[in-house]
Amino acid sequence: MDTKGYEIIVGLEVHCELNTKSKIYCSCRNAFGAEVNSQCCPICMGMPGTLPTLNEKVVHYAVKMGYALNCSINPISKQDRKNYFYPDLPKAYQISQFDIPLCENGYLDILVDGQEKRIGVTRIHIEEDAGKLIHDDSFSGTLVDFNRCGVPLIEIVSEPDLRSSAEAKAYLDTIREIVIYLGISDGKMQEGSIRCDINVSVHKPGEPFGTRVEMKNVNTFSGAVRAIEYEAARQIEVLENGGTISQETRRWDDLKNCNFLLRSKEDAQDYRYFPEPDLSTIVLDEETLSELKASIPELPNKKVVRYMKELSIPEEDARLLVESIEKSAYFEEIIAAGKIVPKDASNWVLGGISRVINETGKSIKEIGIPAAHMAQLIEMLEKKEISSSAGNTVFEEMLKSDKAPKDIVKEKGLAQVSDNSVLQAIVDEVAAANQKSIDDYRGGKTNALGFLVGQCMKASKGKGNPAIMREMLLKILEG
Ligand SMILES: [Zn+2]
Repeated sequence: MDTKGYEIIVGLEVHCELNTKSKIYCSCRNAFGAEVNSQCCPICMGMPGTLPTLNEKVVHYAVKMGYALNCSINPISKQDRKNYFYPDLPKAYQISQFDIPLCENGYLDILVDGQEKRIGVTRIHIEEDAGKLIHDDSFSGTLVDFNRCGVPLIEIVSEPDLRSSAEAKAYLDTIREIVIYLGISDGKMQEGSIRCDINVSVHKPGEPFGTRVEMKNVNTFSGAVRAIEYEAARQIEVLENGGTISQETRRWDDLKNCNFLLRSKEDAQDYRYFPEPDLSTIVLDEETLSELKASIPELPNKKVVRYMKELSIPEEDARLLVESIEKSAYFEEIIAAGKIVPKDASNWVLGGISRVINETGKSIKEIGIPAAHMAQLIEMLEKKEISSSAGNTVFEEMLKSDKAPKDIVKEKGLAQVSDNSVLQAIVDEVAAANQKSIDDYRGGKTNALGFLVGQCMKASKGKGNPAIMREMLLKILEG
């Protein structure tokens, strides 16, 4: 988009549903897709006289995310009531965290155009989700599904460090990958597991930040990209026409691809936060914290950079590997099992193995090829002990049996022939039988060489070393 010299400033508030078994303050099941109003009880429906009990897992999951995003963890934090009325919130307040969140002052490194950029993370706090309003043409009015009431959320608030919709998209993708790696959320956007509010302002570089506008209700990442571009363009147009931006909240409409005014000027004091009297402070001892910290695996954003820098895997391939915990683990097992070029292992995981996954729906574990066998196959290919077509034959056989590739090669007689006298005989025979192709080549049709190499491969039953035979053919053609 043409920003007419303005810089776009974006901050994100990401809400992520945690995949704990039960809800945050009651024992109701926390699962998506159940029958309407089948997963609720007096506590999550806010009946008078009920008391909430905090689910410890929610705190642990949030702390894990805090460590993953390099935050400092507050060993003592508290919960607060955020007061507002909406039909999907039966208590008329949401239990959240206000002045002392679980995690603060972190950062996340994202990868944009091959460059790492550090985005500040202001805070991460826990809170409960609200219910869902159902509007349907089959009945008049609106109904409420309370299943989502009390589903645990973490809210991750970023600093206004993002400068484009592409950076925002990279940030959201990275957050999603991390929650999946940590196993704390399914990250399914189509089920609303990750949603975000977006703050956008524009200013001329060197001047103070402009007034920010908040957009609510963005629940796809592509929607976030369009919402940012739409809002920035709207603000630039207002400013260019001599107008001013007012602080307001706008609702993003993903279908109409535009936003509209929801309410003007909204600040924290409007919610009249106050400490939740029914819950005690959250206290985390040192032992629990260090256990949680130790449980954090290598994170996907760091893994991608390591694959690129240390293993010379191209960015796109590195991302594809890392996207799947299973694929990246398998890839690492293969390169640990043999002395092979990592890129070759990556090609097999993203090639042959991924094809089988797509065709059969099986997991790598179910496909059942030991990493050591893959390493052995790749090693034979790298040493040119077998041709690439023989490599494919061996791979197909490995899918059917648990024999080692070396044994398959022996059994099927697939070892590549590099013996010059044997190959020369094949090449001479092919040359004698294809005088027309030789004439074509000498007449300038150089692709006749490919045909002749193919004939040689056929004559050698796929076992001849194609590079050597190619050289031999060239000698005849140009001699
Ligand atoms: Zn409940």
